[in-house]
Amino acid sequence: IAKEAGRNRYQFYSDDMTARAIERLSLERDLRGAAERNELFLVYQPQIELTNGYIIGAEVLLRWKHPVRGFISPLRFIPVAEDSGLILGIGERALRESCRQAQVWREQGLLDMRISVNISAVQFRQTDFVEVIERALAEAGLPPDKLELELTESVVMQDVEPALEKLRRLDTLGVKVAIDDFGTGYSRLSSLRQFTVDRLKIDQSFVHDLPGNADAEAIATAIVAMGSSLGLRVIAEGVETEAQEEFLQRISCKEGQGYLYAWPMTTSEFEAWVTAWQLHARASRPGASQTN
Ligand code: C2E
Ligand code: MG
Ligand code: MG
Ligand code: MG
Repeated sequence: IAKEAGRNRYQFYSDDMTARAIERLSLERDLRGAAERNELFLVYQPQIELTNGYIIGAEVLLRWKHPVRGFISPLRFIPVAEDSGLILGIGERALRESCRQAQVWREQGLLDMRISVNISAVQFRQTDFVEVIERALAEAGLPPDKLELELTESVVMQDVEPALEKLRRLDTLGVKVAIDDFGTGYSRLSSLRQFTVDRLKIDQSFVHDLPGNADAEAIATAIVAMGSSLGLRVIAEGVETEAQEEFLQRISCKEGQGYLYAWPMTTSEFEAWVTAWQLHARASRPGASQTN
């Protein structure tokens, strides 16, 4: 019986793995050319200064509308894009489009904000990574300090020497760097000092459990304190409720992003949202003008 059970279990895992492999291959096949078929597009989610409601930036997020399966989450297709190398083309396209869009909004006078673009480890590891960034900025005419790159802790902590070198070059250029999903990695926090980064993004898993969960409260508080002592900005991601925002304000976290303010939006939705938000902010805060 034991042998049989063992065999069944093996069979189960094996079928499961095969199914997953097939699924990945099919996703990879469909992802090839998805950009050219206009199935990939970008959405923008505003980042807010908590004390005054100013729009300080927007994070750009990729969306894939599969012709048959409908929307596929980036959590599923980004890993496939990374394993297949497709992320290089997709990522560079997203970067160039983001810079171009941010510059259009600046020139239109809609908003002079910073744009934050997620960067995959595969992109960051390329030897010409900084040149790709420089080219995207030059092509769009976007000032470097209007671009922020979101990297995860593991990306920065792997291959420390080349990573440090790239971060230094980005810093010299004036490009901003944020550490995404901060608190979930295993990085030696002490080594954070040697990295020229500008902002920490408190991972949404902690924000989700605020307030009330002692661990989440302690971690969020520690990240804000650390950011402050290192001279880094700190933003909370995944802010969904007033109670979360109140807690964040209480621990002096100055920036937030999440459904409480806005969902990630298409270009035209974002434009309409900005206009409405600014009217509201002006009405509720006389004298508040929005430029940053
Ligand atoms: P991330 O960079 O940490 O992005 C935050 C995720 O949280 C986004 O999911 C966003 O839509 C979602 N989110 C925003 N506000 C809230 C909220 O209030 N509550 C909750 N529960 N979620 C919220 P999304 O768009 O599905 O992206 C997932 C991940 O996929 C991103 O995590 C990022 O790691 C990756 N990704 C997305 N776009 C790109 C891209 O262009 N390039 C790369 N390399 N990765 C990307
Ligand atoms: Mg991000
Ligand atoms: Mg994140
Ligand atoms: Mg992430």
